[in-house]
Amino acid sequence: MSKEPLKTVIIGSGPAGYTAAIYAARANLSPVLYTGKEPGGQLMITTDVENFPGYPEGVMGPKMMEDLRMQAERFDTKVNYELIDKVDFTGPVHKVWTESGEEILAHTVIISTGASARWLGLESEQRLMNNGVSACAVCDGFFYRGKEVAIVGAGDSAAEEALYLSNLCPTVHMFVRRDEMRASKIMQERVFKQKNIKIYWNTETEEILGDEFVTGVRVVNNQTGEKQEIPVEGFFVAIGHVPNTSIFKDWIDMEDTGYLIHQPDSTKTNVPGVFVSGDAADHVYRQAITAAGTGCMAALDAERYLGEIGII
Ligand code: NDP
Repeated sequence: MSKEPLKTVIIGSGPAGYTAAIYAARANLSPVLYTGKEPGGQLMITTDVENFPGYPEGVMGPKMMEDLRMQAERFDTKVNYELIDKVDFTGPVHKVWTESGEEILAHTVIISTGASARWLGLESEQRLMNNGVSACAVCDGFFYRGKEVAIVGAGDSAAEEALYLSNLCPTVHMFVRRDEMRASKIMQERVFKQKNIKIYWNTETEEILGDEFVTGVRVVNNQTGEKQEIPVEGFFVAIGHVPNTSIFKDWIDMEDTGYLIHQPDSTKTNVPGVFVSGDAADHVYRQAITAAGTGCMAALDAERYLGEIGII
């Protein structure tokens, strides 16, 4: 007996996925959402979120994600705590598979798989995560007002985050592993002009120091071998993000970096009925509120598409 395809499947459970679910559910699309391996996404590794509109006192990242999940479920979203690890978008009905091998058929698919911060891979980085180690200066920088901080990275993100921190902190110690930065010239110039950003060229992080909280960092100059310990209370990693899009590579147009491509002013991908929202397609803004916004757009686009093909 053949299964009736779902109207909408949502892959991913960050602000984009849950917002898509809220809109899709309220449009009677009975969405089924697959959370992936890290339910709640990147906000689960943040502490206070103070820049999401509607929370005047701020909110803990995990609490906000629980609220979003409950809001999605209130309108009849079915949340499955499973990972989707294979898709087939030959169409017109799309197929996705859970890790345990279950096949799901759907007329529309909303991809909200997000991106993951790239980390240095140090044991001390993992141990002190959220206790001084962060991958988001815009999210967490405010907690280090008036304190010495360090940042590692040399791309536009690192430059932008160093500038952001330089308005809050007395000194921003910036570790660049080569003798030049990858960031755009204009961003580099801004960084060079900012007197309290101290750049350490050819410098790599050996260890983040501290037992319970970050107290410093030990770095090594990869040309001279010279080591030094610098006292800091915050350590920011800004060495890029990796979009979680590898399962779509045979189907959805993507940039060399893996970010999915959508049509301008729309969440439509190159495959009819497949839409993308959130950080999986956004390397520029990467905020919870922008992800939520595109999640809303994806649900509206999916609803319109289902109308066009006569399903609703
Ligand atoms: P990028 O990939 O551009 O830069 C990553 C940086 O991290 C590089 O300088 C790299 O060094 C460094 N790095 C990587 N691994 C390590 C490591 N293990 N130790 C030390 N340093 C390391 O990532 P971004 O997130 O900065 O930017 C991603 C994209 O988003 C880019 O296209 C960027 O232009 C864009 N962007 C645009 C913005 C804007 O327009 N406002 C803002 C932010 C990002 P190396 O150079 O030696 O490889």
